Amino acid sequence: MSEGIKEVESKVAPPTIQCPSCDSMLPHKLGEVTCSVCKAVSRIDHKPTRDSWVDEKVSCPDCPKILRVGVDERPCALRCSSCSSVFKVVPKVVKVEVSCPSCERQLRIRPRPGKRRINCPACSESFHVTF
Ligand SMILES: [Zn+2]
Ligand SMILES: [Zn+2]
Ligand SMILES: [Zn+2]
Repeated sequence: MSEGIKEVESKVAPPTIQCPSCDSMLPHKLGEVTCSVCKAVSRIDHKPTRDSWVDEKVSCPDCPKILRVGVDERPCALRCSSCSSVFKVVPKVVKVEVSCPSCERQLRIRPRPGKRRINCPACSESFHVTF
């Protein structure tokens, strides 16, 4: 990765897919995906995601231009046709909502496969979630 390249987050994420061997949530990627729990490698593809990636429009970080990405992979590099700035379109950071079992507040967290302990910021209760 080169330094100083600006990044724009994609708004399209691949679907949530479970590992066929251990049922953990796989990373939100397409192509060869390695399960971070059991290390099994799955081949994941999802045409609707690739189609939306190609058609996705992002705004140039350096000028007001809106660009059609036109590439069916994330991350990918893009050059602005207006200001020639080069930047990177990076995968969307997927977040899920879990509700605190104690106060029922909805917490938005970034899922990581496996069991994980969450501290509720509202009532300080800690609980476990498994993805
Ligand atoms: Zn697995
Ligand atoms: Zn531009
Ligand atoms: Zn709570």
